[in-house]
Amino acid sequence: MKSFRKELFFQIPSRRGFVNITSQVADCIRESSIREGLVLVNAMHITASVFINDDESGLHHDYEIWLEKLAPHEPVSQYLHNVGEDNADAHMKRQIMGREVVVAVTEGKLDFGTWEQIFYGEFDGRRRKRVLVKIIGE
Ligand code: ZN
Repeated sequence: MKSFRKELFFQIPSRRGFVNITSQVADCIRESSIREGLVLVNAMHITASVFINDDESGLHHDYEIWLEKLAPHEPVSQYLHNVGEDNADAHMKRQIMGREVVVAVTEGKLDFGTWEQIFYGEFDGRRRKRVLVKIIGE
């Protein structure tokens, strides 16, 4: 069995944002030369997510509204976590949107369902963050 590890870096210029990282994950699979196996993609920060869904701007706007209802950023004083920082809402948004995804690799390609794409979700941006890509197989 072969294994491959790579870190991707993201610096989102705003507090929150979604980035389609599917092509970067596909590039990792090509680089690994693994044809059959699994790819794990996870955010290496507790205020960012990796998730799979549709690449549709209306949906991404809907996520923003929904997440702000669940865990509003303001007022920052409502959260016990916000002593010397202001990102409690980002931890909660990360919890809802998830840490990682696992996708089957078949014949060297991401074996997706219909419309599935991989996204990096940022909830406390404006700094450099890492995403781990780990591929195992043969
Ligand atoms: Zn925090």
